[in-house]
Amino acid sequence: MVCMSCESTNDVIDFYIEDEKIILCVDCRVKLWTSKTSVKSAGRPSLGKTKKVSLTLPEEDWEWIEEQAKGNRSKLLRRLINQEQSPESRWDNNACLGYALLGAKALGYREEDIKVLTRAIYNQFDIISVTEAKEKYNKSPF
Ligand SMILES: [Zn+2]
Repeated sequence: MVCMSCESTNDVIDFYIEDEKIILCVDCRVKLWTSKTSVKSAGRPSLGKTKKVSLTLPEEDWEWIEEQAKGNRSKLLRRLINQEQSPESRWDNNACLGYALLGAKALGYREEDIKVLTRAIYNQFDIISVTEAKEKYNKSPF
């Protein structure tokens, strides 16, 4: 893991303040803790550099953002950025094929059958969206 404040990898851990995910190295944790307890800084310590952003989006995207943000757009953006940077949460067609391949191997499928299966899944990528595929699975009896 990489520190979200200084990009160091020295003893980095992730934790939550309220329901916001924070990823900090040991030095930034000390800074955070000392700034939090210092008399000078009332309220939240700084999570890093602040930059102003102007963003143009369709009305429905803004509606979605306001609904998700619940009054705190910065927090929503930090969460989305963390999510996007986490390889675990990013959708990947090859990762999906990898899971299928491992499952088929675990069941003792022959090499030939695995090839047929992964090709069949691969062909669906162009036809069915990730959302539709998820819905298909959720509604299936499996
Ligand atoms: Zn740091």
